Amino acid sequence: MATTRTIQLRTEIPGPRSREIVERAGRAVAKPLALTFPIVADSARGVTITDVDGNTFIDFAGGVGTLNVGHSHPDVVAAAQEQLDRFSHTDYTVVPYEVYVTLAERLGALVPISGPVKAAFFNAGTEAVENAVKFARLATKRSAVICFEGAFHGRTFLSLSLTAKSKPYKDGLGPFSPEVYRVPFPYEYRGVTAADALDALERAFAEQVAPESVAAIIVEPVQGEGGFVVAPQEFMAGLRALCDKHGIVLIADEVQTGFGRTGRFFACEHYGVEPDLVCVAKSIAMGLPLSGVLGRAEIMDAGSPGAVGGTYVGNPVAQAAALAVLDVFESEGLVERSGQIGEVVRGRMLSWQERWPVIGDVRGLGAMLAIEFVSGSAAKTPAPELARAVIDEALTRGLLLISCGIHSNCIRELAPLVITDAELDEALGVWEEALAAALD
Ligand code: PLP
Repeated sequence: MATTRTIQLRTEIPGPRSREIVERAGRAVAKPLALTFPIVADSARGVTITDVDGNTFIDFAGGVGTLNVGHSHPDVVAAAQEQLDRFSHTDYTVVPYEVYVTLAERLGALVPISGPVKAAFFNAGTEAVENAVKFARLATKRSAVICFEGAFHGRTFLSLSLTAKSKPYKDGLGPFSPEVYRVPFPYEYRGVTAADALDALERAFAEQVAPESVAAIIVEPVQGEGGFVVAPQEFMAGLRALCDKHGIVLIADEVQTGFGRTGRFFACEHYGVEPDLVCVAKSIAMGLPLSGVLGRAEIMDAGSPGAVGGTYVGNPVAQAAALAVLDVFESEGLVERSGQIGEVVRGRMLSWQERWPVIGDVRGLGAMLAIEFVSGSAAKTPAPELARAVIDEALTRGLLLISCGIHSNCIRELAPLVITDAELDEALGVWEEALAAALD
């Protein structure tokens, strides 16, 4: 039963109605769409989700980083409804609409790229990645793409080829795209420094692919699915220098790090390093399907008419929502709030690490933080079973947490940035109780 103010648990978890719908899903929905939680959403607002049994949870998964402005923010709902009332679709390249142009202008002004910037919009993060590579290939007339160990860039075939986790993402799905080369990503906790990673990249130029054949290097400033591993400053600066030296396009995949998650609007701003292209999606439109590529005009303009596009790309309802999302960021100071949330969460995570040595590492930027579970802090053996146990204990107490990491042995914090201090305190208290229940 309810013991806290926001979380309200009225049935066992999952409740009877959720169980019944999940059973139907087992019969009607394809198995690979496996469910993280056995609860079924009925409504959601701000930082909470209420299920079909009337239980209210605090949502630290945030639709996997898609809900930085919170669930169903009223201003965003109103903007989307108003657009839906006027028209829902024309195909921008058949009959254009102003909201597309305004969004391109506003995001172009925010992205940390100097000089003329242009935008193109799509539906999902994976499409932004695929199209960024298309722009890079068209502009350089080269084919190879370099990506990193631990990377996640999506699940369509080119982006899946760039992704680094075999199970469950790649197993049984080859052959993958040719001309994709993978090199180490700096991972301080596991002994890979920025210098090691840059050396490996130089070796790859000598051993695997000549730099003159490389169209793009694609990097997540903070690896998302890979375990919230933060790229060091000297690594990002080193990538920029190598790209400049060899005429390679530097693509920052900010699908998970963008929209204030790391304490800046774009994570690249932490580095003072300008990418050439930036991929955005997730929190851009409060969960409505929208993604984009923002980049240097000369790269974005390189293709001939029709080289990129798609029936649904840049949907006007999602774009109206995206403009309202930008307004909410400004009016509610969400970028600054991300930094504050990050300080509070990091402080709690560090105290947990002192209490439970199986928490081997605490890392992240701003409000993009994770803890990594290991068995034996010396061996640092990944311990996904501990992460799973904590997630299960948190669920029964009303907090939704999700894992990340190549071994799924990390738990990440992706709370909506509209979370209040009281909600944050309540959620961290529940997280701590779940740790104690699973680990003591
Ligand atoms: N790139 C990054 C960094 C991501 O985190 C994700 C999704 O988690 C993607 C790309 C793919 O986005 P989508 O699932 O919208 O295709």
